[in-house]
Amino acid sequence: MLKSDKFSPPARAFWNKIPSDIQERLLDNAWCSHCSGMTTITDYTGTIVKGDLILDGFCIRCGNAVTRLIEGNVP
Ligand SMILES: [Zn+2]
Repeated sequence: MLKSDKFSPPARAFWNKIPSDIQERLLDNAWCSHCSGMTTITDYTGTIVKGDLILDGFCIRCGNAVTRLIEGNVP
């Protein structure tokens, strides 16, 4: 690998099953409480919590911590 994987192995497997266009949409639809609006999440890590994928990262605009939950039952 070129850089260290910030996803846990189960989170990586979950993420890889999502089509790349959907991945992009998910990353572009994170809520930033500081901007009070939708933003793009960047520099994120991935973990699985109770079957859902949790992306922990930062708002691309202001750098505020942003979390994006992707439900495990969503195709
Ligand atoms: Zn922000």
